[in-house]
Parts: sequence; C-alpha cells; structure tokens
Amino acid sequence: MSNPVVKCSVDQCTHYMPGDQCMAAKISVYNDEEEGTSSKPRDTLCKAFHHRKTVGDMIGAFHNANIGGSMSAAFLEGTQITPAVECFVNNCKYWNDGNYCKAEQIHVAGFNASKTADTDCETFQSVE
Ligand code: SF4
Ligand code: SF4
Repeated sequence: MSNPVVKCSVDQCTHYMPGDQCMAAKISVYNDEEEGTSSKPRDTLCKAFHHRKTVGDMIGAFHNANIGGSMSAAFLEGTQITPAVECFVNNCKYWNDGNYCKAEQIHVAGFNASKTADTDCETFQSVE
C-alpha cells in the first residue's frame, strides 16, 4: 500500500522540521469529534500533533521520532522524510479500506496550533 508524502506547515509541533517535513514515525488523521464526520478540512486533525512548549518536550517527542537509519540516510541523500499515515476520516475521497490514504501527498496545516483540534488535513475532500 502506498503512503502519501506528508508536507506539514504546523511549526508549533515537536515533530515539525524546517522544509515543511514531519519527523514523526507515524501520524493518525481523525475527525475532530470522535463520532463526527468531516465535511471540510477544518473538521479533520492530526492526532500526532504535540505542542512544542519546552525544550523538554522536544526530548519527549522522540518516542515517536523517525530517527533511525532511514532518517540519517534521508539527510545524506537529501530525500523527503515522511511518516506512515493512518486515517480514520472515511468519507474523504482519498480514504481506502484499512485506514489508508491513497493521496500522493497530503498537506497538514494549522496556524499557531496549540492543540490537535487546531490542525487540519488540507487535502481532505468530501466524497459526494
Ligand atoms: S502536526 Fe502532525 S504532520 Fe505536522 S509535524 Fe506534527 S505530527 Fe507531523
Ligand atoms: S487526504 Fe483524506 S484520506 Fe488522506 S489523510 Fe487527509 S483526510 Fe485522510
């Protein structure tokens, strides 16, 4: 199963890296409300968001960090680092059985985000 490349502009997140890259090993995209569905990107969120409050938080974030050989190899080769994506927004046109996302690339955004609900998958498109 293919995995979308994640571009993320949420620079308040501990997993954010300059160049709009996400260094988390895995992210999960959800509807804002547990039982809700999404009709627009604002209704979705990145559950892996972790607010960058303190330097200590940076260290705390490493439990979900993509820092093995793949990341150092990516640095050396200048290739894109991207997390695994699982998604529970099953009325998005890119959603696939097994909670996969079949988009080639997704864009996660959330200006000045301080909590998961402030983040959105901008690539979301409702199935009609
Ligand atoms: S908000 Fe989500 S996609 Fe963006 S850097 Fe954080 S964990 Fe990664
Ligand atoms: S594009 Fe759709 S299926 Fe893919 S992560 Fe975003 S909301 Fe989920």
